Amino acid sequence: MSSARAVYLDHNATTPCAPEVVAAMAPFLSEAFGNAGSPHSMGRAAAAAIAGAREAVASLAGCRPGQIIFTSGATESNNMALLGLARSRPERHKIVVCSVEHKSVLAPAEYLADQGFEIVKLPVDHNALINLAAAAELVDEETLLVSVQGANNEVGTVQPVAQLGELARARGAMMHTDSAQVLGKIPLDLSGMPVDLASFSAHKLYGPKGVGALYVRSAEIRSRLMPLQFGGGQEDGLRPGTHNVAAIVGFGAACVLTEGSLSADIPRITRLRDMLETLICTSMPSTFINARSVWRLPGTSSMSFPGVPSDLVVATVQKVQVSDGSACSSGSPAPSHVLRAMMLEETRIDSAIRVSLGRGTTRTEVSLAAAELTAAVSRALGLAVSSQALP
Ligand code: PMP
Repeated sequence: MSSARAVYLDHNATTPCAPEVVAAMAPFLSEAFGNAGSPHSMGRAAAAAIAGAREAVASLAGCRPGQIIFTSGATESNNMALLGLARSRPERHKIVVCSVEHKSVLAPAEYLADQGFEIVKLPVDHNALINLAAAAELVDEETLLVSVQGANNEVGTVQPVAQLGELARARGAMMHTDSAQVLGKIPLDLSGMPVDLASFSAHKLYGPKGVGALYVRSAEIRSRLMPLQFGGGQEDGLRPGTHNVAAIVGFGAACVLTEGSLSADIPRITRLRDMLETLICTSMPSTFINARSVWRLPGTSSMSFPGVPSDLVVATVQKVQVSDGSACSSGSPAPSHVLRAMMLEETRIDSAIRVSLGRGTTRTEVSLAAAELTAAVSRALGLAVSSQALP
């Protein structure tokens, strides 16, 4: 496969399963296949493994194991938060989300709008950052829920979730945050945050796909949450269905690994991202780095090359895997709703690519990616690029 040796710089779309994660999962796909609900020793072993994973996820997120509900991923967790709470307080009918949320928040919000709820979208500035003063106007005593992501998957902007949570709390509203891009990339301590619900996804932090979690702060919030499906009593009845033991164990193993590496990963990945941006901007000074002037996720870089459509760049760079906008909405020809909400110029929107570095990214890969991207963009612009241009 020609892509086998390509430099993978699309870690915000998904990450490879860490070898330690695969090893931790393996027994649960073979000899230790028990159903966690079974009363015998194999069932008890599966239940114990799930309990261990719950502790590991809670430890990384800074919460208690009893606050974690395992789901199939952040999409399900986001849907559960919005749809599950929507009818919990009939006197409140307003749901406040942010305009740059992932589709798995925006789509259930649109569904609720069709059901008669008032959906308000918080605007963002040119860096995709929420304006707290505007939020203070829009979140009011009629607001049921505020849902704002911890960090954006396309441009990496980290939102002031704690301040928004304070705001929500002061108005008697609940606060949900989509932390799919936060867990494993920057520190998270939910114990000290005014947040009622948070969504996670294992495959963003070197765990398997198809497993995630919803953090639910208290028994009171839990009692208000309506399940999206009904069946057995798994996950306190909130997420019934036979546990995917191997995937849950893999999620736990990924959290343990991340807990050990995060403090070293953050400065190293940030340096590599900065190196990539410096190389690219030096060889192509007309490049825009989107959301550059705010706190961004360490490995995320959204770059615009005005005059060069992003799909052309992505298709031309054979040796580097990057994304034009968000892989989660790939297949959709519409320009990124995130870049649109940032009110960037059309040429900047049309030419934006997303590069996201990860734990395994090396300096050599960054140099190669910078050279490849420069060559691809320069070719598209009809410019000759000297092979001496990059170190
Ligand atoms: N929210 C954000 C911010 C994401 O980046 C993603 C994944 N692209 C999701 C939600 C959905 O996560 P999952 O793939 O686990 O459903």
